[in-house]
Amino acid sequence: MEEKEIYLDNSATTKVCDAAAESALSAMKYDYGNADSLHRKGFQAEQLVTGAKREIAGFLHCSEQELFFTSGATESNNTAIFGVAKHPSGNGRRIVTTPVEHASVEGCMEELRRRGYEIVEVSPDADGNFQALDFFHAVNESTILVSAMHVNNETGTVLPVEEIGRAVKRKNPRVMFHVDAVQGFLKLPILLRNSPTDLLTASGHKVHAPKGIGLLYVRKGVHLKPLIYGSDHLRPGTVNVPLISAFGAAVRVQKDRMQENRAHYESLKQHLLARLDGLADVTVNSTPSCAPYIVNLSVRKIRSETMLHYLEQSGIYVSSGSACSKGKKSHVLISMGLPEERVDTALRVSFSAENTIGETDRFVSVLASGIDTLIKMK
Ligand code: PMP
Repeated sequence: MEEKEIYLDNSATTKVCDAAAESALSAMKYDYGNADSLHRKGFQAEQLVTGAKREIAGFLHCSEQELFFTSGATESNNTAIFGVAKHPSGNGRRIVTTPVEHASVEGCMEELRRRGYEIVEVSPDADGNFQALDFFHAVNESTILVSAMHVNNETGTVLPVEEIGRAVKRKNPRVMFHVDAVQGFLKLPILLRNSPTDLLTASGHKVHAPKGIGLLYVRKGVHLKPLIYGSDHLRPGTVNVPLISAFGAAVRVQKDRMQENRAHYESLKQHLLARLDGLADVTVNSTPSCAPYIVNLSVRKIRSETMLHYLEQSGIYVSSGSACSKGKKSHVLISMGLPEERVDTALRVSFSAENTIGETDRFVSVLASGIDTLIKMK
């Protein structure tokens, strides 16, 4: 009998849910008009886009006009960061961020540093947590932007983004505050009304919509210099109706299940941690305050990739650090001050609501047999 696959890599990407797949297919087959066309076919397509915006705006508590669709969170992060940095009204050169951002933020910062901007990184404390006060101190008169992620994609560390936003605006009210909310979107509460967040990034494929669709929230009154030129929109180009419609459908079906899902992740995590406790060679790198759907752990003496492929032979899929940093040492674990051995042997397990206690049990037993087998081979 063929073994059932166990997918524990949901922070890398998720399976597309039925509602999202059906709405994309229906848009491709029937509502295939150009959303900008003036005839009925165009109107039908535009209605799908408006419907998705209404769904997401209702969920985030913002207005539909404040939402822009992109090709993914990488583009949203680039649009937000370069959009603020290059806008003529920005008369400072200092940007504050963290050392644990996703490559799509980190890469922007590296490029801006090369262009002469002063990039300041606020580090986590000894427990790996971030303090809003440290961001307050890092901001000065010439700071134009603060960019901080909501949930770290490798460890599940939750940053107090609301507090950070309020602290930095107290110090300098002209500062723009950007949140990369990819790993928290549809999992932890995010309310944009009365929030200090000016710009917020999310991605479809982390929440059971297809790959290639992202979201950027831009607070009304915030002006960004566009990345791409073509029309007077922030994001010109023919609108990707099927993927937008799918993104809206994914939000529609999941938004009411957030609490229930959260309780489920919590029980999966507690069960996993209890089982891992029995394995002397495993150290958990995620702390108890981390988001319940990401667990980062290190297996003594066995390199991440070796164990990843061992698990794969039994149909179990996890990540070594983050999928985006293939082959590179994790800058996140390094910034948490972890010894090199723990960094080189780190694995990330990330849940979706579909994972079960039985799957976590199977993961732990295959991990345990992997430790025995691979250590003997050394
Ligand atoms: N930010 C974070 C925190 C992420 O985890 C990811 C995806 N790994 C991205 C941004 C980039 O998202 P996308 O794949 O949609 O470009």
